[in-house]
Amino acid sequence: MAKPPRPLIAGNWKMNGLSASLNEARLLAGMLKGVKLVCEVMICPPATLIGPVRKLVKSAKIKVGGQDCHQKESGAHTGDISAEMLKDAGASAVIVGHSERRADHGETDAVVRAKARAAMRAGIVAIICVGETLEQRKAGQTLAVVSAQLQGSVPEGATAAGVVVAYEPVWAIGTGLTPTAAEVGDVHAHIRRELGKLMGKPEARKTRILYGGSVKPGNAAELMAVPDVNGALVGGASLKAADFIGIIKAYS
Ligand code: PEP
Repeated sequence: MAKPPRPLIAGNWKMNGLSASLNEARLLAGMLKGVKLVCEVMICPPATLIGPVRKLVKSAKIKVGGQDCHQKESGAHTGDISAEMLKDAGASAVIVGHSERRADHGETDAVVRAKARAAMRAGIVAIICVGETLEQRKAGQTLAVVSAQLQGSVPEGATAAGVVVAYEPVWAIGTGLTPTAAEVGDVHAHIRRELGKLMGKPEARKTRILYGGSVKPGNAAELMAVPDVNGALVGGASLKAADFIGIIKAYS
């Protein structure tokens, strides 16, 4: 059996964070400096804070990511940020296709795929989000929805080093609700099989599949112990260093 990939705990600050929030990044770096971590740790702050956060956390080996990127490298796209710009600011990854972007900005799988391709072009990791709505889950469509999103969003030529998949049931994001460990395991095993078809089995086995949706210090250990779960994408509980560290500890 191949060794499972190194887990990743990534914090998505969403549209939260002024310069005062740098203190949380500073606190987290202080807690993790010199600690030999089993998992990789990443903070995805708003784009305005990528550079300053990177400076604060670099010595603690915490990575920094963006929350979205434009598919093009540069050009007349007022207000947008390219993957190359994120990398230049200190990011080593970018979240693409988060359900909030799919809902708020009408992002389709084709757009998500173009953004993931842009991340690959820039040499940063694309964290591709997929997940079903509550209606889709109730209708028994979860696996079909996730399959379609993966088929539409994972670019050709994707590798385990360049892509991470985050399974985020839309109904679990920010609600305090989570699927059961068994339900998470079923979807993650399905995602791994689908990735096998898209990337080839050896790459699929090495690809990290994160669970996201109301991960907290109190449920992280159970969720992270589920087979085929290789870490977490964390929203609300990543905003405070004390909570985020409680999730990172699931891997210590
Ligand atoms: C997210 O938005 O990616 C997320 C998982 O949020 P929360 O942890 O707050 O549910």
